Amino acid sequence: MSKVLVIGAGGVSSVCVHKMAQVNKDGNADIFGEIHLASRTKSKCDSIAASVKKRTGETVATYEIDAEEVPAMINLIRKIEPSLVVNLALPYQDLPIMDACLEAGVDYLDTANYEPKDEAKFEYKWQWAYHDRFREAGLMALLGSGFDPGVTSVFTMWLKKHKLKSIRQLDILDCNGGDHGQAFATNFNPEINIREVTAPARHWAKKPGEAGEFVETPAMGKKITFDFEGVGEKNAYMMYHEELESLAKFNPELERARFWMTFGDEYIKHLTVLQNVGMTRIDPIKYKGQEIIPLQFLAAVLPKPESLGETTKGNTNIGVIATGEALDGSGEKTFYINNICSHEAAYEETGNQAVSYTTGVPAMIGSAMMVTGKWSGDGVFNMEEMDPDPFMDMLNEHGLPWQVKELDGPVDF
Ligand code: NDP
Repeated sequence: MSKVLVIGAGGVSSVCVHKMAQVNKDGNADIFGEIHLASRTKSKCDSIAASVKKRTGETVATYEIDAEEVPAMINLIRKIEPSLVVNLALPYQDLPIMDACLEAGVDYLDTANYEPKDEAKFEYKWQWAYHDRFREAGLMALLGSGFDPGVTSVFTMWLKKHKLKSIRQLDILDCNGGDHGQAFATNFNPEINIREVTAPARHWAKKPGEAGEFVETPAMGKKITFDFEGVGEKNAYMMYHEELESLAKFNPELERARFWMTFGDEYIKHLTVLQNVGMTRIDPIKYKGQEIIPLQFLAAVLPKPESLGETTKGNTNIGVIATGEALDGSGEKTFYINNICSHEAAYEETGNQAVSYTTGVPAMIGSAMMVTGKWSGDGVFNMEEMDPDPFMDMLNEHGLPWQVKELDGPVDF
């Protein structure tokens, strides 16, 4: 029987822990066995544990930890002796938690790549630099096991395994058609969300036979209108998203890879004003003799993502459109693979809205892949390096069913 230690007690953690408990309750207690949950604010762990108990009857042990205090993390890991640490805190804690895992000799999983606090840089380089140390220690670190990154990479590799010999063009489309009834709120951690959407857009471009590169364009500079099944027509904006880096690395044939996310006009209007008045800055300013970071202050006054669950109605629709040479030799083909998730159903099941649900479920599945040994290896790995099939099966079984269809031709945007 394995033991897992989950770090962080936000919306994503709440879904992941509920799902782990459900797996245990369904008679697969050998997968997660004991569930331990630690975060900066213990009361948040306790309320997740109470909800899990009520919904599933399973027990979750809770602890207080500042994950940036590496010695304290090492002590906690040594005390619990888990076989896996599941990092669902914030991207800033990735490296300290990886350091603690190395020292304590335990595997690691996260859902978002490391970001330095003073720079909105979404790059894998810091975590990839840990590869040799994990390999030499005989440990595994799995990066980005959420939806995007996470499922989007698994979708892509499933298409490459079952439908396409190679992928020439890739578009990731992330639509949140949920309405939470607030003038402005973010569906996951506001600080991370706003850093992401205000950063310049970047997409992957490569001419055949040449080395590819990321092309930078202004944030929100390219817009399309797309008809999302289960949602309807929405405006989507091209932006940078971290899985583009690993997708380009593990699919060197890609000539173009882009990421699109939908935003309503109200969201853009509020964000533009906040940006214009300096509230999204991430450099410290002096206020009444104290240093504050405007974006952190803004995040503190915005609605908490976990508070939006009850009021959010509608669906998310996240998927991948890939064009390339068909595996069966029938020429160039285009496939669209996606999942539609209901905010109301996610809330009913776990007490959290669909953005947390679509991240927490893949975090649970990635954890299951690792503790059961279906995915294994020594070193630091991205989702693209693993067999997509068992992960795709679990998506269907655990609340994120997917569908794939052939399109008439490549996207025309
Ligand atoms: P939340 O802000 O809701 O939760 C983060 C949790 O981490 C909070 O409980 C917070 O504690 C805790 N935390 C913060 N700092 C520390 C620390 N130093 N030590 C211990 N705990 C800490 O975020 P979400 O649940 O929305 O997101 C969780 C992660 O998932 C983030 O990394 C996010 O980027 C990622 N994500 C990934 C997605 C994907 O598809 N791949 C999509 C959405 C999110 P406290 O309660 O005290 O504030």
